[in-house]
Amino acid sequence: MSFDYDLFVIGGGSGGVRAARLAAAEAGARVGLAEEYRMGGTCVIRGCVPKKLMVFASGYSGAFEDARAYGWGVQAGGFDWDIFKGKLEAELTRLEGIYTANLKKAGVEIHAARATLSDAHRVKLSTGEEFTAKHILVATGGRPFVPEFPGHELAITSNEMFKLDQLPKRLLIVGGGFIACEFACIMNGLGVEVTQFYRGAQVLRGFDDEARGHVADLMRDRGVNLHVGTDVISMEKTAEGIAVKSSTGHDASYDAVMYATGRVPNSDGLGLEEAGVRLGRRGEVIVDAYSQTSVPSIYAVGDVTDRINLTPVAIREGAAFVETVFHGRPTSPDHELVASAVFTQPELGAVGLTEEQAREREPIEVYSAAFRPMQTLFAGRDDRVLMKLIVSQATRKVLGCHIVADHAGELIQLAAVAIKMGATKEDFDRTVAVHPTMAEELVTMKSPTRTA
Ligand code: NDP
Repeated sequence: MSFDYDLFVIGGGSGGVRAARLAAAEAGARVGLAEEYRMGGTCVIRGCVPKKLMVFASGYSGAFEDARAYGWGVQAGGFDWDIFKGKLEAELTRLEGIYTANLKKAGVEIHAARATLSDAHRVKLSTGEEFTAKHILVATGGRPFVPEFPGHELAITSNEMFKLDQLPKRLLIVGGGFIACEFACIMNGLGVEVTQFYRGAQVLRGFDDEARGHVADLMRDRGVNLHVGTDVISMEKTAEGIAVKSSTGHDASYDAVMYATGRVPNSDGLGLEEAGVRLGRRGEVIVDAYSQTSVPSIYAVGDVTDRINLTPVAIREGAAFVETVFHGRPTSPDHELVASAVFTQPELGAVGLTEEQAREREPIEVYSAAFRPMQTLFAGRDDRVLMKLIVSQATRKVLGCHIVADHAGELIQLAAVAIKMGATKEDFDRTVAVHPTMAEELVTMKSPTRTA
């Protein structure tokens, strides 16, 4: 049977774009790609990229204060959201253009439409066109999830945060994960009065406990009004704004309420189940180690599969799919020792096992140092940095590294290379320090803080 395409990709985000480009440019495949909104997906349009630019913008308030402490006669004027928003939009449009141009250069045919599956080899577009494809790749990502409760429709999500007409004066953020903590810090830095509710005992569940506590303390020190063990019961629009009733009596009114209570896979209404593709309980597309679904011609990568929901992972999954299907080299994406960073202020960078996970598996040594870094100490700030290594007593391998510090995202990327290579604590120790830096602590921690 002859097909219109060798590959049809549904979704122009990180995973889909990488797979489409590689299949077309390197494997010479005839590739079609459908994107219903803007090319680039969550990461480029309403996630990592605009978020990081907002992190940069919000960091200047502290930088102005520090500059004064260092002797500069600077006075920060107010932050102009309209100026920033205009530049942000222009930058996203530029990036979207680059994504589109690169796809076209690779020979991918782009369809600005929503695509649904008709069967194992057929997609139907919202334009009415239908195409057949030997392989179909579902890369439709995810979307924010807001639980149902009285007044939930008044909540906004991270999607809307980049498009606000104006910055709220009083903002409530609900959730304690990546997005909630990042936006709490961003908005706090931009001068918004931020309250954050998290239902559990400590934010950033899944990260190392000591690092979570360290981040939470510093978020509070910097002005985020963080309430743990607290949830919203109801919300109502009043003349004061949005009146929020909470489970712990912290009732107040806010100008905006942002929910960051997780994301769900975008698998609804795509015709997946009708085509025989198995979905999990949360709507995630179930795939094997090669990203193949229960229908042999249909594969899925990225957040829609709900494995590790990070852009670089989706990109690797897309590349592994192309290796497997178009180069005949079965390749499963490597989900081991994936480093990540939470862009709070300060940042949290992590790779490998937390102290709690490692302790469950084997006897360990914990090396942990919390100290005041010279840059902010000089400026009179109370910030502390955390550098932490988890070491196997048996193999001496470094099983995990956790850093809370400005630029921890940059630092953990490099530590991750060593740890991925299987570095031991003695390898770290043999490495001469770079002085004076914060990260030198990683190679100078001589005795374990504790064993477990
Ligand atoms: P997360 O899963 O990280 O956090 C969700 C938070 O919402 C948790 O604190 C969770 O609490 C809470 N929650 C869930 N359901 C409810 C509910 N019904 N009521 C109240 N609270 C609730 O999701 P995010 O939305 O923050 O981010 C989604 C994913 O996107 C991340 O996991 C990450 O993979 C990715 N991401 C990565 C970033 C990065 O790399 N820097 C940045 C942003 C996102 P509990 O802990 O109790 O379950």
